[in-house]
Amino acid sequence: MDKRDKQKIKQDFTVRQTRQFIAIAAAACLVILVAVLYKRSDLFGAFSKGTLVSVQILLILAFINFTAYNWRCPSCKRYLGYDINKRVCKQCGARLQ
Ligand SMILES: [Zn+2]
Repeated sequence: MDKRDKQKIKQDFTVRQTRQFIAIAAAACLVILVAVLYKRSDLFGAFSKGTLVSVQILLILAFINFTAYNWRCPSCKRYLGYDINKRVCKQCGARLQ
């Protein structure tokens, strides 16, 4: 693997990591928002609690799917695990940062 490939892996990883941070922040905000709607159903009475629970489950499923697609090693495409600040891929040994 030449130097340009290694550079590309690091760049690709940075893009994936940024997307992952945004997804975590967005998912957290939305889940909290729906939880607030659930607690304060007097504010937005239009949503039934059953709908809000479904939305919550859908949000979590969407987040899991996004993570499964995004959070992969740019080199070997395997799942990177729970560490968001991973430096080296455990599967193939590629340097990520
Ligand atoms: Zn890898």
